[in-house]
Amino acid sequence: MTNEELQQLVNRISLENFHKPFLHQAYFNARLRSTGGRYLLQSHHIEINPKAFEIYGVREVEGIVRHELCHYHLHLEGKGYQHRDKDFRDLLKKVNAPRFCSTLQTSTSTGKKERPLYTYRCVKCQQLYLRKIRLNVKKYCCGKCSGPLKLMQ
Ligand SMILES: [Zn+2]
Ligand SMILES: [Zn+2]
Repeated sequence: MTNEELQQLVNRISLENFHKPFLHQAYFNARLRSTGGRYLLQSHHIEINPKAFEIYGVREVEGIVRHELCHYHLHLEGKGYQHRDKDFRDLLKKVNAPRFCSTLQTSTSTGKKERPLYTYRCVKCQQLYLRKIRLNVKKYCCGKCSGPLKLMQ
């Protein structure tokens, strides 16, 4: 997914779920580490972690975008835009967004024991995919080359 496609996705989700336009910029920021995305209070831009897309796919990015757009619209309207604010929690529920800026888990992450991830490898191009849940490999294929996926380990 390119920055341009991300921008279009954010525009679309903003109109469809919030019935308001997104008038700022959305782009991928590879320097984001454990967080899936963030809303920048000063510039009003939305940054998305490219790993969220690589690891979890577009559905995950859509959830993150809905979450960040809750911060965005409430902030611009002068309402409670922080996680603890009632306005924020109400809007999250309304648009069915995840409660937190989702935390990315990678196989190399240390610290608390996390649920085991399923690792899939594309048979053709060797691209790795980590998933929290089991995939039906008959239904899903490689996002890069459409090759078949194989469960590792
Ligand atoms: Zn947040
Ligand atoms: Zn592939």
